[in-house]
Amino acid sequence: MGSGRVLRLVHLYPELLNLYGDSGNILVLRRRMEWRGITCEVEEVHTSDHPSFVDADIAFVGGGSDREQRIVCDYLLEVRGELAAFVEDGGVVGAVCGGYQLLGHSYLMGDEEVRGLSLVDLYTDRGTPRLIGNIAVESRISPQPIVGFENHGGRTHLGVGVEPMGKVLHGFGNDGKTGEEGCLYKNVVGTYVHGPLLPKNPGVADYLIARALERRYGAAELEPLDDAAELAANKVMCDRLMAQEPEG
Ligand code: GLN
Repeated sequence: MGSGRVLRLVHLYPELLNLYGDSGNILVLRRRMEWRGITCEVEEVHTSDHPSFVDADIAFVGGGSDREQRIVCDYLLEVRGELAAFVEDGGVVGAVCGGYQLLGHSYLMGDEEVRGLSLVDLYTDRGTPRLIGNIAVESRISPQPIVGFENHGGRTHLGVGVEPMGKVLHGFGNDGKTGEEGCLYKNVVGTYVHGPLLPKNPGVADYLIARALERRYGAAELEPLDDAAELAANKVMCDRLMAQEPEG
């Protein structure tokens, strides 16, 4: 059943920001749209391109090493204005780890400061040790705890009034101290959760799709899908993590 609906997804720098399978998130978004008769047009942005967000519905940016992050940041600063307009207009953004850090004002690595895009009021500084391990997060954007894997040296600090994506049930999250994970701002979701994020967390995928449909078509009724496999995978990880000692 075709609904005639089309969503345009801009995937930023897949060759540079694709840690722990982050590009798998694009496959999930595409399939969950197609299963509902929504056409998903994916545009990959490479370093030789000048991205445009004018017709975009969803922008996705994955994680990467500090080195790759620096490279990407230089490119994105060139289109910062357009990206900020997209965000302020309710454009949907999914940003993971290195991509999440780029949303903020800066990423401080010792003496070096990488300027961020200032799309969300947050900043990151690098600490030791790296925060590595499996993670589970309770969040209003997912009916199930969000599960995945984190590995970051950065500690992210949210500005006053910026909502975290959720509360850490197991793992470290933004800084290993506040018990907060990720950020939500307008239709931006930033998170440290890799794995990739979306296959085991279909609620998050549908949250992003629903926000994009709402913005483009004014309604976000999403037909339920058979998520038995996804939810079983989510539950295995949740049960395992909840049975373990907390991190930290
Ligand atoms: N380079 C960043 C950090 O270590 C992000 C790493 C990542 O994307 N996993 O904090």
